[in-house]
Amino acid sequence: MNVPLLDLKPQLAPLRPQIIEAVTRVIDSTGYILGREVTDLEEKIARYCGAAFGVGVSSGTDALLASLMSLNVGAGDLVLTTPYTFFATMGTVLRVGAQPVFVDVEPESLNMDPQHAAEVLEADRKAGGRIKAMIPVHLYGQCADMQRIMALSAEYGVPVIEDAAQAIGAEFPYEEDGTVTWRRAGSMGLCGCFSFFPSKNLGGIGDGGMVTTSDKGFADILKSNRNHGAEPKYYHSRVGGNFRLDPIQAVVLAIKLEHLENWHAGRRQNAAHYRQLFQDAGLTGSPVTLPSAIYVNITGAEQHNHHIYNQFVIHVPQRDALRQFLQEQSIGCEIYYPLCLHQQECLQSGAYKSQAFPVAEQAAANSLALPIYPELTYEQLAYVVETIKRFYHAG
Ligand SMILES: *Cc1c(COP(=O)(O)O)cnc(C)c1O
Repeated sequence: MNVPLLDLKPQLAPLRPQIIEAVTRVIDSTGYILGREVTDLEEKIARYCGAAFGVGVSSGTDALLASLMSLNVGAGDLVLTTPYTFFATMGTVLRVGAQPVFVDVEPESLNMDPQHAAEVLEADRKAGGRIKAMIPVHLYGQCADMQRIMALSAEYGVPVIEDAAQAIGAEFPYEEDGTVTWRRAGSMGLCGCFSFFPSKNLGGIGDGGMVTTSDKGFADILKSNRNHGAEPKYYHSRVGGNFRLDPIQAVVLAIKLEHLENWHAGRRQNAAHYRQLFQDAGLTGSPVTLPSAIYVNITGAEQHNHHIYNQFVIHVPQRDALRQFLQEQSIGCEIYYPLCLHQQECLQSGAYKSQAFPVAEQAAANSLALPIYPELTYEQLAYVVETIKRFYHAG
């Protein structure tokens, strides 16, 4: 049996006529830059995420870059983030001339540890306050502890850029005045950065991204910065870039957005099947640690996107050997991420070399992402679990 890590063909098939029609309309219109289609998607994504504004950009990376530029983060500044995320989270910090400051992640969620963040912010305040932004990452599709992170943001006056690239629609049980409201990724910090890379839960037919925010002034700066800071055309009071989203991507994404809740539910269903199958196979706890679903026990969680499972990541001993075994049995799997950011070669000339983040480093050594996309059949999931069982029982 063949189980690819991701197969977009079954998602495309039923939507194909509608997508071809919409893309053809854009082509025939000859309006290929921004325009009504992009504005329409911005409004839809903002509404979906529970933010007032959306600003369409060219990728998730450019969403982060434009957000940092719009906060005037630059040379001499520091940005607090985690060492266990996709490279873009820190790459954009370095590109604006600032330096990342890492805090380790929590062992269960692998998201930013607010306790460590508090210690670093406190030390930074005493040293003069160079930290200009915080970028928590909603890793694999589950929100970081935004309750405590937003409390730190208020206490230290440091704005939060949510890296929500893997987490569109993911919800966090946010408590205010004694009542819990499920708030969506990108609606809690100053802004949220989304990616429409094809492998994200909402993926385009190429690159694309979006920044959401409820701050009108910030939205205006973002819009200016995605178009070279031109205001009006050919007059530049600030230096932005070309971070524009194409209308061709916008029309495809608007069609797909209609199905996103179903796809999230499908992934969650697959995750539930995996959990049962792993348990029935006697693999849970040891050797297989299943991904955490930390908000699942909160009242009403079943009705909410407490996790959108952009990735279903298990933690296992002999990870590399298991990965090879699965690949030999035609099961796709991937390591997100094999090397922490503080260990990347591009940072090794600096002070990062000697730093240690044990939780992140442990995750890099034993994490393995399994196929989780919504159209997988139960038989395929069972085959994955059975193959993993065979690997450990043979060893
Ligand atoms: C995908 C991703 C990005 C970058 O998005 P692109 O659209 O590929 O530029 C940034 N951060 C995280 C956590 C991601 O997963």
